[in-house]
Amino acid sequence: MKKENSRRDFIKKSAALALGTLAATSVANKALATTDILEKEMLLVPEGGKFTLPKLPYEYDALEPHIDKLTMEIHYSKHHQAYVTNLNKAFDALAPDVAKNLADLDDVFANMDKLPVAMRNNAGGHFNHTFFWRTMKPKGGGIPTGKLADAINATYMSFDEFKKQFADASMKRFGSGWTWLVANKGKLSIGSTANQDNPLMKLDSVEIKGKPVLALDLWEHAYYLKNQNRRADYIASFWNLVDWEKANELFENAK
Ligand code: MN
Repeated sequence: MKKENSRRDFIKKSAALALGTLAATSVANKALATTDILEKEMLLVPEGGKFTLPKLPYEYDALEPHIDKLTMEIHYSKHHQAYVTNLNKAFDALAPDVAKNLADLDDVFANMDKLPVAMRNNAGGHFNHTFFWRTMKPKGGGIPTGKLADAINATYMSFDEFKKQFADASMKRFGSGWTWLVANKGKLSIGSTANQDNPLMKLDSVEIKGKPVLALDLWEHAYYLKNQNRRADYIASFWNLVDWEKANELFENAK
């Protein structure tokens, strides 16, 4: 017990030294942070409290037949919950000097290169799933709207070509990860990340950077019960669920 405590103290002190001064985000910048548009209170670091699993914005069976009820139930209540639980553990293990500078997940991602891997996996898992649930909706799909539609057409020539490139990136991801459409200084790009990494994380290994506009979970837990090994079928189903109004809102706020 004693040994564990001193080890934990050592880790805390080391982490505090390694962090030095955290990149402070000004209040003005916060107004345009990605997490704002996703009901910010869900992603704030709770003061003396715990991160909690945000309510799913629809019933488990609401995305049928494209994503089945059992997959949604397990994905949300088991997988997403586990990221939240483990994020709380990882956060509690941080040195107080480090933790006090992390006001929300934007701060966590901006300092990702200086934080433990448990923060990376679980803050990523919490944000990515929260984002994923909120950029899909029952009876979604159709075609992009607003300025995002213009940007997609300007960047990819057509919506079909955009979908093809997004699907290609999804098929090429080996193992678990995510596909993203991001905006970076108004420019769109498609890419994928491994595990629970995301384009907001300050990490050299994350190749795509920018504000998320759309995300697709490529972990087998997201589709295996219905689609088994057929990732392509799952990707095709996703186009029936995208909330393009929300994606446009995220794009317009991503300046
Ligand atoms: Mn998942």
